Amino acid sequence: MQLRRPESLEEAAAALANGSVALGGGTEVVPLLRDHLLEAETLVELRDVVPSGVEGTRIGAGTTLRELEADPNIPAALREACRLAASPQVRAMGTIGGNLLQATRCWYWRLKFPCWLHGGDRCLAKGGAHREHAVFGNDRCASAHPSDPAAALVALGARLRTTERELAVEELYRLPTDDDRTTTTLAPGELLLELDVPRPEASTYLKAMDRKLFTFPLVGVAAARAGGRTRLALAGVAPIPWLLDSADDLESATPLPGTAYKLEIARALIGRALAEVAG
Ligand SMILES: Cc1cc2nc3c(=O)[nH]c(=O)nc-3n(C[C@H](O)[C@H](O)[C@H](O)COP(=O)(O)OP(=O)(O)OC[C@H]3O[C@@H](n4cnc5c(N)ncnc54)[C@H](O)[C@@H]3O)c2cc1C
Ligand code: SF4
Repeated sequence: MQLRRPESLEEAAAALANGSVALGGGTEVVPLLRDHLLEAETLVELRDVVPSGVEGTRIGAGTTLRELEADPNIPAALREACRLAASPQVRAMGTIGGNLLQATRCWYWRLKFPCWLHGGDRCLAKGGAHREHAVFGNDRCASAHPSDPAAALVALGARLRTTERELAVEELYRLPTDDDRTTTTLAPGELLLELDVPRPEASTYLKAMDRKLFTFPLVGVAAARAGGRTRLALAGVAPIPWLLDSADDLESATPLPGTAYKLEIARALIGRALAEVAG
């Protein structure tokens, strides 16, 4: 396998055009390569071409989670979502761009069972072990989106700049369909460059997990109040980060037998989060 380190975005785009894989901190790419869930002859390291660091409301996609959790200028919801994600070692390497694009943690998928998301004819989690799975958007695939920062960014109304477009963070995601089983709208070779994260009047991120540390969200709740309106977004409840209009949306959930408990957790965390950001 080759490692290329382009010096310009044009060079990176050319290198990525032939099915190579973009490499941020590698905390997700390396395990996926090891487990043969990802195949690549060439890895294209993004360090010299994708911006990193924080400047005003702008955050480079190459900024690590550790930098974000430590920066007092970052809104509380995003800081807390980064602080509660993974281990210190992973946060020191993992970038916010890579975090937004991490693959599902569903173990049927990770262990290469021929489930629907791998092109098979059914979701194996629905008929099997699924206590960590989804309560929304689980018609075809019941995986639960693992990113804490993605939910925080959606609640904060953050926008993304890529090599091809500008979009709201929630528009980076799509529910998979029979015709297209991907969960993002990223085009082949398209790179995340920068986030623009508005400053809210108040924001928070609350996370329920199986252990106190180093584990993915069972339910994560982000709330951000700006201009008299509060946005709520959830992690760990749908195949993509899930934006709610209000807590009443929990009534429209479609839990599996083993995931209904997540709704009780979501209800409690939403109540606490709304109280925390109330004006
Ligand atoms: C043990 C463990 C526990 C974890 N726990 C949590 C948790 O609790 N909460 C949570 O949110 N996350 C968690 N994570 C995920 C972790 O935060 C991500 O692995 C990390 O942020 C990914 O960043 P990276 O730079 O290493 O990505 P990489 O591994 O380099 O890349 C990940 C994906 O993004 C693509 N990519 C990277 N950068 C770009 C870019 N700029 N443009 C386009 N594509 C790009 C890569 O091609 C790849 O598909 C955990 C990970 C581990 C290993
Ligand atoms: S939840 Fe999705 S990834 Fe997991 S078994 Fe079902 S289809 Fe596959």
